[in-house]
Amino acid sequence: MPEPGAGRYAPSPSGDLHVGNLRTALLAWAFARSTGRRFLIRVEDLDRVRPGAEQRQLDDLAAIGLDWDEPVVRQSERLPIYQAAIDRLTAAGLTYECFCTRREIQQAATAPHGPMGAYPGTCRTLTEEARTRFREQGRPAALRLRSAATEFEIVDELHGRYRGPVDDVVLRRGDGIPAYNLAVVVDDAAQGIDQVVRGDDLLPSTPRQAYLASLLGLSVPHYAHVPLVLNAQGQRLAKRDGAVTLADQRALGATPEQVVTALAHSLGNPATSAAELLDRFDPARLPREPWILDGNGLLQRSRCP
Ligand SMILES: [Zn+2]
Repeated sequence: MPEPGAGRYAPSPSGDLHVGNLRTALLAWAFARSTGRRFLIRVEDLDRVRPGAEQRQLDDLAAIGLDWDEPVVRQSERLPIYQAAIDRLTAAGLTYECFCTRREIQQAATAPHGPMGAYPGTCRTLTEEARTRFREQGRPAALRLRSAATEFEIVDELHGRYRGPVDDVVLRRGDGIPAYNLAVVVDDAAQGIDQVVRGDDLLPSTPRQAYLASLLGLSVPHYAHVPLVLNAQGQRLAKRDGAVTLADQRALGATPEQVVTALAHSLGNPATSAAELLDRFDPARLPREPWILDGNGLLQRSRCP
């Protein structure tokens, strides 16, 4: 029997999860478990880490009824596997050093046939003399992919065929840390993850990641990009939007079960627990529009189903 595939949830431990994060986690778990997959947690801690946040996030995921397969992995413990992937791309002639500052990239004109806002390729053709000069100036160098494509197509369970831009994506940042796009691709493959369920704000970067996977000879996972939770102004939900974490809700007297009930209802599912949601889970019936949450709307919804 082939090993079952896996789905995953990959939070950044920069603070507490809010209900938008919890809703995406609930969906990732339901997609994985309803298809017989393992469900893995990966802590994406290459960036900002708030002490204690990882444990609180795991506690909150358990409190809303999610379970996962061990071990929980941390990106900070996997630096050699990212470097190995970067080395393979470099050996294949597919990388180059980029000395641009963020400001220079913003000011540069977009490449004529590249996607809007994409890196214009300034450092693609730097001479060895120019690179040496930049190094002597002490300019930090990021490592970029020498992309042969400008577009790549993926298939998404909710969005269908999706074609999006591919550019010379950063593989290793100027501070030496592996870049998000590279780490995600390497991790998903290394962990046997064949189903990626995440917020649809990440859909535009998915063609880049799938292209990168194909260059590394890795299989491209199945994708499902799910609608986000937005505030009343139509912006992605954030901590400033009120009582948006489980701790906030507890302080207002709402139990995790009530929060799960509200999340399930927002997904068109009349469940009152994660287990019930899983029993009735039907991806075809998921809403395709964001869930707008205003003020203390979560509590009101959870009390008046
Ligand atoms: Zn550059």
